[in-house]
Amino acid sequence: MVVLIKNCRVFSPEALGKTDVLVLGDKIAAVGPDLSADFNGKVPVDIIDGSGLIMIPGLIDNHVHILGGGGEGGFRTRTPEAVLTDFTLNGITTVCGLLGTDGVTRNMASLVAKTEALNEEGITAYCYTGSYHVPITTLTGSVMKDIMLIDRCIGVGEIALSDHRSSQPTYEELSRLVADARVGGMLAAKAGLVDIHMGGGPRGLTMICRLIHETEIPYSQVLPTHINRSRDLFSEGLDWIKEGGYIDLTAYGLGKPSSDVPAAEGFTRILDQDPAFDHVTMSSDGQGSLPKFNEKGDCIGLGVGSSATILENIKDAVRKGLPLEKVIKPVTSNIASLLKLKGKGRIAAGYDADLVLLDERSLDLVGLVAKGRILVRDTKAVVKGTFEI
Ligand code: ZN
Repeated sequence: MVVLIKNCRVFSPEALGKTDVLVLGDKIAAVGPDLSADFNGKVPVDIIDGSGLIMIPGLIDNHVHILGGGGEGGFRTRTPEAVLTDFTLNGITTVCGLLGTDGVTRNMASLVAKTEALNEEGITAYCYTGSYHVPITTLTGSVMKDIMLIDRCIGVGEIALSDHRSSQPTYEELSRLVADARVGGMLAAKAGLVDIHMGGGPRGLTMICRLIHETEIPYSQVLPTHINRSRDLFSEGLDWIKEGGYIDLTAYGLGKPSSDVPAAEGFTRILDQDPAFDHVTMSSDGQGSLPKFNEKGDCIGLGVGSSATILENIKDAVRKGLPLEKVIKPVTSNIASLLKLKGKGRIAAGYDADLVLLDERSLDLVGLVAKGRILVRDTKAVVKGTFEI
C-alpha cells in the first residue's frame, strides 16, 4: 500500500505549511515538498490531491465506552456498542475503550474482545482494566497481570471519585491501585495510567492531590477526566496543571444547556500557560449515556455520547479564534505522550500512517487514513465495520 498526498497544509500538530506526505505500508515514510513515488509501474500508488485540504494527525479518543455504557436508568438504558464508522467518520484513528458504572453486565473479557475487533477492522484500539468500582474486577486476577499480559491493556479506569456512583474507595485503596498500575506499566513499557472519573461532589480532586503529594508516585500516573463538568472542578483542574498534574476535558456536545465549561473556553484559559497546555487532553466519553434537556432545561430522555464531539469542539475552538495547531494537541501529541503510544499523535517519518484530511474552510472531514489504509475518501466511509450496512 503506497499513498502519496500532495500539496496539503500539514499540521504535525505544528504548522508545516503546504507539503507532501508519503505513506508506505502502515507508516509515514516521508514528509516534505515535491515527493514522488515511482516504482516503474510495478507498485500501485494512490495519489491524492491535497489542494484545499488540511492534514492533521489521526485523533486519539482516550475515553470511550466502546462496549456501550450507561444503564443508570434500568436495563433498557444500556447504550449500544460503538461501530467502526463512529470513529472513522469523525477523525478518530486511535481509541481507548473502558467500562463505566456497570462492571457486572459488561466485563473485561468482552472489552478485550471488542478492542481486538476494532484493531482488526482497521483503527488502533487499547483498553483499560476495571470499571467505576474499587476493588476492581480484572481479567487475570490482578491489575499488574492485566497490564503486563494483555497486549492492548495500558492502564486502569475509569475509577469513580467524588461521585454518588463511586464505590467510595479509601485513600489506601486508591494508592495501592495507582501504585500497582504504575509498576505493571513500567514492567511492560506501558503508561500504566489510572483514568479517574470525576463526579460533581465537593471533595473534587482532594484525594488525587493527597496521593501525589504524600507518595513518590509521579503526576503522570493519574488522569482526572470530566474536569470541565463544572466551573468549580475546572478551577481546581487549572491549579492542578499549574503544579504539574494532568487533566482531561470531556468534549461535551455544543449548544445544549449545561453547567459545564465548553472545551473552547477551557483551552482559552490554559493556552497561554505553556508548558501547562501540554498536560491537557480531551476525550469524548463516547457511547456513554447522556441526559437530553429541552430549552427549559428539563430532562426529556437519554441520548448516547459520540466521538463526533471531539472534532465538533475543535471546530468550535478554531471558529472562536484559537489556533488549530494548538487545539489539536490535547487529542494528538499530548495524549500520545502521556499514554506512551509509540508512533501515534504526530505526522513525521517513521510514525504510524494515521492521517485526517479536513476541508480547509469548514474543517469538515474529507478523508481518513488509519494504519496506512484509506478508510474514508471524499467524505464517504469506503471501509465499514463488520456488521454496518
Ligand atoms: Zn465517566
